[in-house]
Amino acid sequence: MVKNELKSIKILAQKEIEKAKNLKELNRVFKKYLGKKGKLSLILGSLKELPLEERKKIGKKANELKNVLEGKFDKKIQEIRKQAKKGIGKKEWVDVTIPGKKIALGHLHPLTLIKREVCQIFQQMGFEVVEGPEIETEWYNFDALNIPKDHPARDEWDTLWLRQNKLLLRTHTSPVQIRYMEKHKPPLRIIALGKVFRHEATDASHEMQFYQVEGLMVGKEISVANFKAVIQEFFGKFFKKPIKVRLSPDYFSFTEPSFDISITCVVCGGKGCSVCKRTGWLEMMGAGTVHPSVFKNSGLDPKNWQGFAFGMGLDRLAMMKYKINDIRLFHSGDLRFLKQF
Ligand SMILES: [Zn+2]
Repeated sequence: MVKNELKSIKILAQKEIEKAKNLKELNRVFKKYLGKKGKLSLILGSLKELPLEERKKIGKKANELKNVLEGKFDKKIQEIRKQAKKGIGKKEWVDVTIPGKKIALGHLHPLTLIKREVCQIFQQMGFEVVEGPEIETEWYNFDALNIPKDHPARDEWDTLWLRQNKLLLRTHTSPVQIRYMEKHKPPLRIIALGKVFRHEATDASHEMQFYQVEGLMVGKEISVANFKAVIQEFFGKFFKKPIKVRLSPDYFSFTEPSFDISITCVVCGGKGCSVCKRTGWLEMMGAGTVHPSVFKNSGLDPKNWQGFAFGMGLDRLAMMKYKINDIRLFHSGDLRFLKQF
């Protein structure tokens, strides 16, 4: 019974393969006999229901036929292709064997990758990531942070003012710290991460908008020692190697004392190279102990609380990590740049 069926499949299938004029027709024949529900496929699938002896015999024959037909299909495909190249049946030329067009997959922007990594490292140390508005008032951006009325940063050469100088685009993420302290009682540990804006001519290391990441830790006995431990841990994890941190004196109106923070050069390891200008150190951020006036302006009693704050450019971190030499590349939209991440 099955034997006869195999015979008739052999005759009919070969005829139909021979008759096929193009790949579409050939594909239909293929489906009819060798497709998932093709005649021969069904027989092969039902072999297991036969008694052992018969299964062996029929199985052998059916598989042989399958090989024969597959060979015929391959031969016919070549034939049709050859003809198509000669121009015969050009209209119906569809090569079903050509691999499909690949859809290009996008990926995250390098700054987003760095942003996520930074947040993750600080979150592991118990810091909460908080946000604030990009349009600020003069109070939150300058006054509350103890920045004097005549400070040049308030100048319209540095700050982008809005609405007759009543509002501005924040020049740093520090206002987020004030807003957070107004609403939350210490002890607290936060990271404020977001876009900031400067009225500035752009060059390889300056942009009009960039990302800042700022940290604030406040408690009864938070000291510079805590700061050094936290920040050393952060840089070590971020650059995935042991990093030394150096504090040198600096001045900021919102911290007292204030420091400039350098780390061992991640390129040369401290020996001296062109990136670190032969010093072995890279300046990474500003930091310090929170100024009593800043606590007062946020509604906290400076006699009860102390803490540290720091701030750095996320773009600079990304440039250090990926060895990028021009900050403007981040917003250039240049795919040759972006595809490298
Ligand atoms: Zn170096």
